[in-house]
Order: sequence, then structure tokens, then C-alpha cells
Amino acid sequence: ILLTEIKPFLTTTQVALRIRPLNEDEILMGATQIAHKVQAKMVVLMDPMEDPEDVLRANRSREKKYVFDYTFDGAASQENVFKTTSQFLIPNVISGYNATVFAYGATGAGKTYTMLGTDDEPGIMARALNDLFLEMDKTSDDMAYKVTMSYLEIYNEMIRDLLNPSAGILDLREDAKGGVQVAGLSEVTARSTNEVMKMLLKGNKERTQEPTAANKTSSRSHAVLQVMIKQQNKVRNTQQEVRMGKLFMIDLAGSERAANTHNRGKRMVEGAHINRSLLALGNCINALTDQKGSKYVNYRDSKLTRLLKDALGGNCKTVMIAHISPASIHFEESRNTLVYADRAK
Ligand code: ADP
Ligand code: MG
Repeated sequence: ILLTEIKPFLTTTQVALRIRPLNEDEILMGATQIAHKVQAKMVVLMDPMEDPEDVLRANRSREKKYVFDYTFDGAASQENVFKTTSQFLIPNVISGYNATVFAYGATGAGKTYTMLGTDDEPGIMARALNDLFLEMDKTSDDMAYKVTMSYLEIYNEMIRDLLNPSAGILDLREDAKGGVQVAGLSEVTARSTNEVMKMLLKGNKERTQEPTAANKTSSRSHAVLQVMIKQQNKVRNTQQEVRMGKLFMIDLAGSERAANTHNRGKRMVEGAHINRSLLALGNCINALTDQKGSKYVNYRDSKLTRLLKDALGGNCKTVMIAHISPASIHFEESRNTLVYADRAK
């Protein structure tokens, strides 16, 4: 077994929570809003199943409070979410550090909306790249930059290139220095935000999405956008002046449990794999943020954590945006998500 010891004080993790608006389907099903943002950093979730009289007799509240670094409700704009949670990462990545933004939550909770968004309401991926391009223009007199990106999915612990799906299943390889690479993954050079958005929307259509009992378009795959920024000083053109920064932006698979979706057979196996990656990710983040620094980080537990090894440990910044529906019919999923996100703090 390979256990990697890291220095936790170098890692900063921020956890945000986004509650999407209640939608028409939920209203038609008679659902009520049980999740609310009550303060800048606080949300409450009400248990709709609890008998109000029992609660009253026991002298406690039906509502549970959760505190995060930032919280957003249905009124929050895409721009607001990007500026608050992720914009600060851009200068870091340009100066050669690694950073990761994750969207976590059950299917339908709003992960893809936050990360990818739509043509009219682009999400974090396109906005981050737009900022990168703008920032680089400002300083391009004496610096040469190259931005390349890759977009892949991890489905059932198998890696596929979303920009070149016909390449089939790709291998994760570690080089002599312990760096991780996906063999044969395409790297494209991006120039404009429009170009990026087109590529991402096209790539997203290639994601493995198969129906489950819980949701017709349940996302069973993790989608990983990897942006590499290479920076070279044009004035002092020495080998030492080349800096590499990596930014990962990840739309995780739905976090709902296999048991909740009445999955059998193939779906059940998928559920197990998804949980393995999400569990491994949670364990890694938990160990990294452990104040005592006494925990070990085992990246080898899943493809996702192996891929993110050099972006999670060491000198890097991590942002997790957890997503929930506000509807009473999704109480269990929302509670699970709040507990997972609370653990990641
Ligand atoms: P997930 O990727 O977590 O499965 P989606 O991002 O696809 O969920 O969101 C489910 C639906 O809700 C989509 O139709 C999406 O456009 C909509 N939606 C999600 N978040 C928001 C939001 N903050 N504002 C408006 N619509 C949203
Ligand atoms: Mg999605």
C-alpha cells in the first residue's frame, strides 16, 4: 500500500452550499420548501416527517442549522456564485499553484447548472476560463502563456475523453516522479470563452447518462475539466522561469445512494463505484483539513482521487460547492449532502 503523507497546513478548503429554486415538478407533486438560507453563512433544513407535537414535547426544533463558508439560495446569480467561490483561485493558478472546484450533490440538485450552466447563464467553467484569458492579457508584455484543457469523465472507474469519445477507455499512469497522467487524453488549446463553452457543451453531451428509477437523466459519471496554464518569462527566458498551474473543475456524479434509487444489477455496481470515488474524495479532503495533521491521505482508493493527487495535497486550494433541492420530497438526499459537506469543512 502506498500512503502519502502531506502537509495539511498548506491546503485550504472552502465549502459553499447552493440551494436551487423550487421547480414546477416539485410544486406539482405538492412539495414545500424545507431548506432556507437564513444568514450569509447559515442554512436550515426542516425535517418534514417529524411530528410537530413530538418535537414540541421534546422541546427541540424541527430545523437543523448548518454553517458553511458561503451559502446561496435560489436568488443567487451564476456570476455571484463564481465571484464568491472561485474567482480568487485564478491569480493563484496563474502563478503556478494548483486548485480544484467540485460540485457535489444528488442528481437534479444543480451541479451541472453551477459548473457548466447554459449559453445564456454560463457556469463556473466558462467564467473561470474567461477570467484566465483576461488576466493573461493584462500581463502579456513580458510573459508568455499557454492554456490547454482536457475534459474527461470517470464512469464506473473508467476514464473516457469527452472531447474525443471514440478513443475508448483511457489509462491512468504515474510517471517516475509520481505525477499522474491520463494516457492518450486530448489537450486542446483554448483562446476564447465562446470557444470553450461550445467545446464543453458538446463534451457534456458525451457523458454517460442512463435512466434510473429515481431520475430520467441521472448523471452517473464524474466530469472533470482540467485546465493547464504554462507561464514563461519572455525577458528572462531560462528554464527556471517556466511555471505550471493546474485548475480542476469537477461536476461530480449524483451522490444519491444506490439503495435510494431501487437499483439492481448493473446500476447497483455503478452506485458502488460512485460511492467509492465520492467516499475516497471525502476521506482525502477530511484528512487534508485535519488540524492535527495526524491522518494519512490514501489517494489510491479511486480513479478520481488518483487523478487529483497533485491538486489535493501539497500547496493547493480546494473549493467544494454542495448542492441541494429545497423541496420536502428530497429531504433525505439534502440531509445526506449537508452532512457530507459539513464533514469536508
Ligand atoms: P444536476 O447536475 O445536479 O443533476 P442540474 O444542474 O442538471 O442538476 O439541475 C437540474 C435542473 O434544475 C436543470 O433543469 C437546471 O437547469 C435547473 N437548475 C439547477 N440549478 C438552478 C438554479 N440555481 N437556478 C435555476 N435553475 C436551476
Ligand atoms: Mg448534472
